[in-house]
Amino acid sequence: MREVNKFENKIKKMYPSNRLCEYITGLRLDDSRLGERIMEDRNIIRERYGLWPEEKLKNESPAELEKWVEGRLKKVGYRLRPGLERQKYFDENDVMAVTNIENKVVYQSLRKDGDSKKIMLEHELIHVLQGENTPIEGREYEAYIGTVNKSILEEMIREGSLNILFMIMARNIRNYYKEAGEVAPWDKIE
Ligand SMILES: [Zn+2]
Repeated sequence: MREVNKFENKIKKMYPSNRLCEYITGLRLDDSRLGERIMEDRNIIRERYGLWPEEKLKNESPAELEKWVEGRLKKVGYRLRPGLERQKYFDENDVMAVTNIENKVVYQSLRKDGDSKKIMLEHELIHVLQGENTPIEGREYEAYIGTVNKSILEEMIREGSLNILFMIMARNIRNYYKEAGEVAPWDKIE
């Protein structure tokens, strides 16, 4: 029995994406309702933060979006800065942007363009507009699900590969806990 548990725990450890998904949505990754739920949440989140409608997002350039995001940030006292001095951090940690809440600055990676630049800008805008009381899991879920490219998301749902999205989120959130010297509640295995 003990051996079986050990094995099960090992398996669980290998799939943090499933635990995170269940923790946030209450649904397992292989639940057939998950795709629909995420598409719905994506719409709700985009509306909640007043993000661009789908057509506009698809057709306007990253530069146009940048200008718009900069304006939105300005309204809440934030600045958007090129992340020159942060570029090493961006590359090492494979992140695209970082928000400094204390100084009210959003630093953006300079090596991103096209769709990834759009995603990066919207992701950080969501973080700036979120309440600080929301747990990190909810914050990242909103920022990732609200900004993921719609056709890529539809493809992931068709192919059953939503785990990729939750894997990225799990890695990001794990780092957050690690920096605080803690372990995520969904990452604790008996
Ligand atoms: Zn984030």
